[in-house]
Amino acid sequence: MTRVLEDKSVLITGGGSGIGRATALAAVREGAAVVVADMSKSGADETVEQITAAGGKAIALEVDVTDEAQVEAMVSAADDAFGGLDGAFNNAGVARGRDWAPGTLTAQTSLQAWRDVTSVNLDGVFLCLRSELQRMEQRGRGAIVNTASVAGLIGLAGASPYTASKHAVIGLTKAAALEYAETGIRINALCPGYVTTPMTALTGALPEVNAKRMERVPMSRYGTPEEVAEMVVWLLSDRASFCTGSAFTVGGGIEAG
Ligand code: NAD
Repeated sequence: MTRVLEDKSVLITGGGSGIGRATALAAVREGAAVVVADMSKSGADETVEQITAAGGKAIALEVDVTDEAQVEAMVSAADDAFGGLDGAFNNAGVARGRDWAPGTLTAQTSLQAWRDVTSVNLDGVFLCLRSELQRMEQRGRGAIVNTASVAGLIGLAGASPYTASKHAVIGLTKAAALEYAETGIRINALCPGYVTTPMTALTGALPEVNAKRMERVPMSRYGTPEEVAEMVVWLLSDRASFCTGSAFTVGGGIEAG
């Protein structure tokens, strides 16, 4: 069977863990060479080790996606690494700030906590997207996926910075997709529901939190990072050639009810 990302070069932020790592592995399985970028260099290195052990091509980069200069350098290095960027998955994100965790009401949310979350989830996606577009524009093609969340489609009480940042990612995705629709560059948003990653382990360790989450999910289970990766790989591939400006949910039916 043809591999859907054969000979493509893909940049993945947050590639050192969870959904980003699973997507890096899936993209390589589908024929891509991957640039794995993460604030955790050890996480990115571990992903690259798994890829090279499986016979794939990948390099690791350390980046803080909130830092404009670091993002520029990352995208430039990624563009040079494997003969020009074909795809990008802007996926690095956080669910909590330094003095804030899910469950905190809006009235008790500090500006610092707001900025901790939105600077990664929104500013980080903007900086990566802008830099990727500048390069893809020159080649006249490319596919970009920005990680939002089901919390980009519905409100999550006790998580206003996270919910706001993810709604904004979908808005940013739509605006940019319209701008580039005729250029050969496609831009879509990904909306995972609850997925088993270190992020959900951090925010949902309590049994009652887990039970509450599962009440919302018609399939009554968490998704796996691998199930989410399948959607991302497809969106990055030419098989998704007529899709741009959309938000794609992988959530066990969570947004249907
Ligand atoms: P994760 O914590 O396993 O991975 C997130 C990665 O992002 C980590 O490796 C972390 O080091 C990296 N990161 C954080 N801040 C960064 C920064 N400033 N610069 C560079 N890298 C940074 O979490 P995950 O569940 O795999 O989350 C991936 C994305 O999916 C996030 O955007 C998250 O909001 C989104 N998401 C996750 C779920 C879920 O249930 N896990 C649901 C919806 C959306």
